[in-house]
Amino acid sequence: MEECNSALSHQPQIQYELKIFSCPVDRETIQTALYTLGLMTCIDFIPYDGEVEDYLLIWPVEEPAGCWSFIGRTGGQQVLSLQPPDSQGPKCLGGPGKAIHETLHALGIFHEQSRADRDDYVTLNQDNVVKPFLHNFAKQSLVNTTYDYEYDYMSIMHYGTHFFSSGRDKPTLVPKRRDAKIGQREGLSRTDCYKVNKLYGCFERSPYQKLKYESFCDILGL
Ligand SMILES: [Zn+2]
Repeated sequence: MEECNSALSHQPQIQYELKIFSCPVDRETIQTALYTLGLMTCIDFIPYDGEVEDYLLIWPVEEPAGCWSFIGRTGGQQVLSLQPPDSQGPKCLGGPGKAIHETLHALGIFHEQSRADRDDYVTLNQDNVVKPFLHNFAKQSLVNTTYDYEYDYMSIMHYGTHFFSSGRDKPTLVPKRRDAKIGQREGLSRTDCYKVNKLYGCFERSPYQKLKYESFCDILGL
């Protein structure tokens, strides 16, 4: 008998709720981020049904304010903070990029420069880092961060050259490859896309899905 797909497990699902965002445009920016991730991977982002145990609560936390997320599933109601634009600037919602970045953290992805092998690719100038923030440059284990892929300067999960810097002429991270640019928050890189799909088993679901998501990711590399 022909094998059918009924045994295929359900797509990975993440429920989310947006709270407090009063401007429709801010909600749209976040929806765009989640829609993009849902399109490029097999993960289904669906609105919170009020019943499931684990879900993502997205709102502008006041203390600590800013764009932040836990890394990986913490269980229960998991907070992800995104600050809407104010008189000082676009904060976390000038485009979907920062919402994508924080959601990738919630999906279990660390910063690219946390890779165990990062010293081969970037130089960390510890003296230029504002001291209390030095821990942000800690490395993770190899197994936590590589997912079999090459180091990715283009990753939306990479810090820029002056993150947590003590001054304008004091870069904290300098790429070893001369022409490399780091710190983009525009969108997923090709490798970001592969990484998430790999982590969530999207390529193993069926030959069709493998082909589909790989070609979606490859478009990002063009
Ligand atoms: Zn981050």
